[in-house]
Amino acid sequence: MGTYIPDQNITSGLDVAIIGGGIAGLTLALGLLNRGIKPTIYERGRSFREIGAGIGFTPNAEWAMKVLNPKIHAAFKQVTVQNGTDWFVWMDGSQEDEALVHKMYLGERGFEGCARADFLDELVKSLPPDTVKFSKNLVEICDADGLAEVELKFSDGSKTSTNVVIGCDGIRSKVRQFVIGEGDNPAHHAHYTHKYAFRGLVPMDKAYAALGQEKTETRHMYLGPDAHALTFPVAGGKLLNVVAFVTDPNQWPDSEKFTLPATKADAVKAFERFNSTVKAIIDMLPDELSKWAVFDTFDYPAPNFIRGRVCISGDAAHAAAPYHGAGAGFAVEDAAVLAQLLSAVNEYTKSHDLEKREISKPGLIRKALKTYNTIRLERAHWLVETSRHIGEIYQGQNAEVGLDSTKCAREIDWRCRQIWHYDVDKMMRESKELFEKQLDIV
Ligand SMILES: Cc1cc2nc3c(=O)[nH]c(=O)nc-3n(C[C@H](O)[C@H](O)[C@H](O)COP(=O)(O)OP(=O)(O)OC[C@H]3O[C@@H](n4cnc5c(N)ncnc54)[C@H](O)[C@@H]3O)c2cc1C
Repeated sequence: MGTYIPDQNITSGLDVAIIGGGIAGLTLALGLLNRGIKPTIYERGRSFREIGAGIGFTPNAEWAMKVLNPKIHAAFKQVTVQNGTDWFVWMDGSQEDEALVHKMYLGERGFEGCARADFLDELVKSLPPDTVKFSKNLVEICDADGLAEVELKFSDGSKTSTNVVIGCDGIRSKVRQFVIGEGDNPAHHAHYTHKYAFRGLVPMDKAYAALGQEKTETRHMYLGPDAHALTFPVAGGKLLNVVAFVTDPNQWPDSEKFTLPATKADAVKAFERFNSTVKAIIDMLPDELSKWAVFDTFDYPAPNFIRGRVCISGDAAHAAAPYHGAGAGFAVEDAAVLAQLLSAVNEYTKSHDLEKREISKPGLIRKALKTYNTIRLERAHWLVETSRHIGEIYQGQNAEVGLDSTKCAREIDWRCRQIWHYDVDKMMRESKELFEKQLDIV
């Protein structure tokens, strides 16, 4: 870990507990530090872990990174690979003559990819060393009206209390269950989408030899019957990241593990109706593979992301199928709003006599989280929805669209624009204004 240089003097009297140290938790922590608030991250793992795969960030996510903390954006750019061209290319992978479906400009150095672990390592360098408490598996939350603080209990028996809790604990979130409420509720969990992915990293010299420059230097999505594949360069251009999604009529066979062993033969079979380019990509995957189940919250969305002084963000709030490559980016958008609102709570607490204003710190926090919920709910639910739909379109499963390239292009275009060209500054302005309105200070 490098030497930590503080963002600001930490003068906060606000205790923020972040549950989970994935992209949602870490970016939120850095956004708070940038605003003079030092949170505590409770992570159930013994160290930070990211899977050995690639990730890309859409232009809106990069904008949100800059707003949250420029160090996040610098960390990302430090580990990304510049695309050879700034265009995202969609091809019909089922036709031998390689029909172009659509092409979209990503902006200068837009939607670049990197290895997840490299990005996480860079983010961690900017965290003060005592920000994270590892081996803290949250098992219980108590936030009753009469309690001065929210109480948290971990599986090792330890307890703590805090002013506010942000659940960044991913797709199997414990905090989501608390927010949705007690009793059996299918919305407590994400559900299997009947699609899974084979993922692999291919040495670039091998990929280049098989596919040539054009298909290895920028993002390519190959559409086709009941499967689709995405490639983009990572690791300084030394590796080609391959994600090959297939439809699965069966139930996911394991209730604990989202990743199971698979073989290249399984992938070859799933892509047998594709053209020679896609077959060549699949053929470069190693013989022993893993398959990754795609779970999402489409069928049972969380009705809201907050309960009292507790809220959820990132996959804990809105687990989306990964076909837009935007789930982590939306977590960064969430974090930008949360960091701004919690900073406003902190400033307000310091500069006003709360008793005179007849508002308590818990009351302020509840209003801040309510604002977060209003600003984020609709867009986040829409991402989950569009991710399902675009997956079906990529796999020719939408009855009205099929694999008709004009219709596919139209669907791809408007959906991507809605994600990529989101006005993050406007979102930040609106959340500030809404919070101030709630406090009656405008
Ligand atoms: C195949 C695939 C490709 C993808 N590609 C992209 C892409 O290119 N771009 C993009 O933006 N998104 C992409 N995504 C989505 C993205 O990976 C997720 O949206 C993002 O990683 C979610 O981050 P998170 O921090 O919310 O959750 P996670 O990364 O799951 O982190 C949750 C953390 O919480 C911890 N935790 C869990 N429970 C507890 C507990 N009880 N107590 C304490 N700690 C706990 C976990 O150990 C973990 O560290 C992809 C997803 C998949 C599956």
